[in-house]
Amino acid sequence: SSVRRYSSDARAIIRERNQNVNAFVSINENLPSSSTEDPTLHGKTVAVKDNISTSSMPTTCSSAMLENFTSPFDATVVKLLQDAGADIVGKTNCDEFGMGSLNVYSVHGPVINPFRIDERRSAGGSSGGSAAAVAAGMCDSALATDTGGSIRLPASYCGVVGLKPSYGLISRWGVVSYADSLDCVGVMAKTVPEVKRVFDILNVHDEQDPTSVSTQMRRNTRHIVDQISHSWSKDPKSLSGLTVGVPQEYFPRELSPSISHSVRQVIQHLQHLGAKVVPVSLPSTSYALSAYYVLASAEASSNLARYDGIQYGLRVPPPPGSDLTKTSNLYAHTRSKGFGSEVKKRILLGTYALTADAFDNYFLQAQKVRQLIRQDFDRVFRYPNLLIRLHQNHHVDSGSELLSLSESHHGQIDVLIHPSAIQTAPPLNANANAESSSESNGEEQDKDKDQKDRDLDSYVQDVLTVPASLAGLPAMSVPVPVSLSHKNHTEQRERDKGIDGWPVGVSVVGQWGCDEVVMRIGQVIS
Ligand code: GLN
Repeated sequence: SSVRRYSSDARAIIRERNQNVNAFVSINENLPSSSTEDPTLHGKTVAVKDNISTSSMPTTCSSAMLENFTSPFDATVVKLLQDAGADIVGKTNCDEFGMGSLNVYSVHGPVINPFRIDERRSAGGSSGGSAAAVAAGMCDSALATDTGGSIRLPASYCGVVGLKPSYGLISRWGVVSYADSLDCVGVMAKTVPEVKRVFDILNVHDEQDPTSVSTQMRRNTRHIVDQISHSWSKDPKSLSGLTVGVPQEYFPRELSPSISHSVRQVIQHLQHLGAKVVPVSLPSTSYALSAYYVLASAEASSNLARYDGIQYGLRVPPPPGSDLTKTSNLYAHTRSKGFGSEVKKRILLGTYALTADAFDNYFLQAQKVRQLIRQDFDRVFRYPNLLIRLHQNHHVDSGSELLSLSESHHGQIDVLIHPSAIQTAPPLNANANAESSSESNGEEQDKDKDQKDRDLDSYVQDVLTVPASLAGLPAMSVPVPVSLSHKNHTEQRERDKGIDGWPVGVSVVGQWGCDEVVMRIGQVIS
């Protein structure tokens, strides 16, 4: 049938383009069944990040630890897409276990940003493969995960749309855990409607995921969002009645000229469409990055304890002559060989933060900062954080009660808008691949100062994306359209000002549960 032809054509295109981009790490040879009840995604090709379980392909998490691992089951999100007729074309490259910002910590090698292949720039991480696959036209959309920015950052670098939904909306069952309290599955595609089409399929309760939001709660949230949208103009192109906040802390001095110019144009555009744009302050922002790396590493150190060489994944027996009755020997050998340098660093940092001596100073402090970050957001938004309200008031379960809560709320912001990243895609330099430097046993002391600077640099990439993760809020990066980013600039003037012509992403962030609102504004910008 024509669908079958299309499916094998899609695979030929992936094979060809992947030689330059390295976005895919497996290709699914099984063509989709043409007889699904729900045809919503019929004929649509979807790529899946390699930390999401698939029974028809390996799930490596870009780690030597899982290089030969194939899950016996499909993640709920994969099953939902298949049931909707999607063609799951393959698995995408990422940073090992989702840890990284440049997609260079991968056993499969780095992803090359397809925007201008010859410039050899990073596709961003950790979901660089998913972003590059979409940008290079190798699939219609891609699933990815975002713990601290792993969807929004690569979306920004590659010039595609990337949505990190509200925490708890999309099932994580079958998704390899990095930091459970932050991990979200999200969607990337070239347009907002395409992202929404996939999101709508996935936005359902899953009883296998204990953090999945209940159907009742989804109904209540929907009711409130509907009420809110009553006050806006019915014309989807007009933004009158909407208040957009611009957080001043998200425009640091390091922001590149490419970014600040484009974001300014977007803000003017929103005003032009009738939105009220107001500056706001989120004063705890500067603590977010440090708190994030403490909490994410702590959770990771616990989650990654399961890779022990016993149950599944890599097993490296200790050298002959060692005491084989000690399983710790097998454990240590397997983990030394199986994990890359960045993952080891996180395990050590996280384990330390959880030790009795460090717990109060690091882990507890970071939890407090997380609370402050949430409060910052709650203070500016027009409506309260429904997820938190519901946990505090178990008896509040009707939509109208929740709505009255929002009337007593003082903020005035519907959505926030800010740059997704402080710069355009950074170059992939030869040394940036940590896996090649870790082959010589991954010893930190071998690294020159430059390399250490670059390692630190890669943490700084996340400074604008981690706050929404800590607060569990919906956040979407949309590429600034060329017509806006080049406004008022001749090419010569652009070069003089350091504007490099690479994609720029702007992020729209909403209160918990307001994913639809975020997507609506994203659509208007793009
Ligand atoms: N770069 C961040 C980290 O390494 C975010 C990764 C992610 O969102 N998965 O933790």
